[in-house]
Amino acid sequence: MHLECDPNKLRIEMVGAEKPNFPMDIGEMYEGERVRRPDMQVEFGGPDIPKKWEIVLTRKSEEIEDGKVILIGPDLNELKQGGSYPLGILIEVAGEKVEKDLEGVLERRIHYFLNYVEGVMHLNQRYDIWIRINKKVYQKGLNSLIWLGKALIWLYKQSFPVIEKIQVTLTTDPETIEKFYPYALEVWAARDKRARELRDEDVEEFYGCVMCQSFAPTHVCVITPNRIASCGSISWFDARAASRVDPKGPNFPIPKGQCLDPIKGIYSGVNEVVSKRSLGSIKQVALYTSFETPHTSCGCFEGIAFYIPEVDGIALVHRDFKGPTVNGLTFSNMAEHTSGGTQNPGFNGIAIEYLRSPKFLQADGGWERIVWMPKAIKERVGDSIPPHMRDLIPTEQEVKNVEELKAWLQAKNHPVVKRWKQVTEEKPPEEKAKVEAVAEAPVAAEVVPAAIVPEGLSVPVGGGFIIIFKNAKIIAEKVIIKRLEK
Ligand code: SF4
Repeated sequence: MHLECDPNKLRIEMVGAEKPNFPMDIGEMYEGERVRRPDMQVEFGGPDIPKKWEIVLTRKSEEIEDGKVILIGPDLNELKQGGSYPLGILIEVAGEKVEKDLEGVLERRIHYFLNYVEGVMHLNQRYDIWIRINKKVYQKGLNSLIWLGKALIWLYKQSFPVIEKIQVTLTTDPETIEKFYPYALEVWAARDKRARELRDEDVEEFYGCVMCQSFAPTHVCVITPNRIASCGSISWFDARAASRVDPKGPNFPIPKGQCLDPIKGIYSGVNEVVSKRSLGSIKQVALYTSFETPHTSCGCFEGIAFYIPEVDGIALVHRDFKGPTVNGLTFSNMAEHTSGGTQNPGFNGIAIEYLRSPKFLQADGGWERIVWMPKAIKERVGDSIPPHMRDLIPTEQEVKNVEELKAWLQAKNHPVVKRWKQVTEEKPPEEKAKVEAVAEAPVAAEVVPAAIVPEGLSVPVGGGFIIIFKNAKIIAEKVIIKRLEK
């Protein structure tokens, strides 16, 4: 599908072989630059805009014009300062060696390339984008989106000599964005589906990605057929294509080596490569668990799988979920703790597509350990939830806090309830009484039942405080954290 629009809404400019005379600076030193709301000229996408997208598609050479930048809809200087607007970015590429498998990796580069632009902050990917442009660079001359199109063309051509032709379309026109949106969803679904047909056991090599090391220096994504990258935009096929076309680039093969634990997903080859690429910070990665030595997260994850000690279960939340989740914390509260390239047992940055994997948190119980998830995600991946679990997992519509969650799980006889019983039964009589007392009591959000806290678990409790459990044998009847009144 090609973008269609009213020709009266179009503006076209061309980029030649020479570097354009940009009004703003461009370079890696601008990566990580943040644009806060009071400093922004405008923002595109983000949580307040339901439809937005960025996508890379391969085309036949005759279908596109090299160096062409198209703008559809109002330009930057026609948008009200401080406003939020929809945006679509379509990048079309052609070249003899530009395979379809490269689309995902090239698409992920939009994030990096726009962050190289002075005064521009780009977050997320695919249908989740959020871009801010600061007032300073706008006043300096970045007052047209055409400049961003030109910057993208120039950066792609510098980084990927295999691209023979590239054409960039930016659109702020809601009608155009809306029309193309279902097609973009189809393209991403087809990309993800292809990877679903392979299993980790079927391949000799996994792939790594260190694109995010500029802001999470110890983070290495391990991309396997059954574990798509946590940003959700690079599958095993994408990473393989990228490593072939750019062997010195951020994607590289990881020979699996010996499988040390097929349930947790621990491989000697993964440990070796991750240890080397994280400069010794991460010694072991267990691919299919949230506990002990989980996969690290940079900050680009689409969602978080987070542990709820009160019920010994795992809940899910996605980036666009507004307001507090079932444990009282928002996505942003937990994202801060989940990111940074460290291993955070109990907090796992994940792609939504990973929920469809047959190895989804398999060492932790998979779907039988999931106790809560947002309605939007439940609807999106509903067909991948095992039928016997579909009605047992509540959303924000049924359950709003841990107290309600516990009651729901008990009433539905959710599989995690058996785990509570096991813990209780394994205790000596006097401790059993204490655990039962806690289990029977109305459970407040701040109550942690004894003896079911996994090793290494750390819990953000708001206000900048984190509780870390290391080699802990907790015998307290309960822990209550209270905010002191001033
Ligand atoms: S999240 Fe992982 S796969 Fe995605 S760009 Fe970053 S390092 Fe690469």
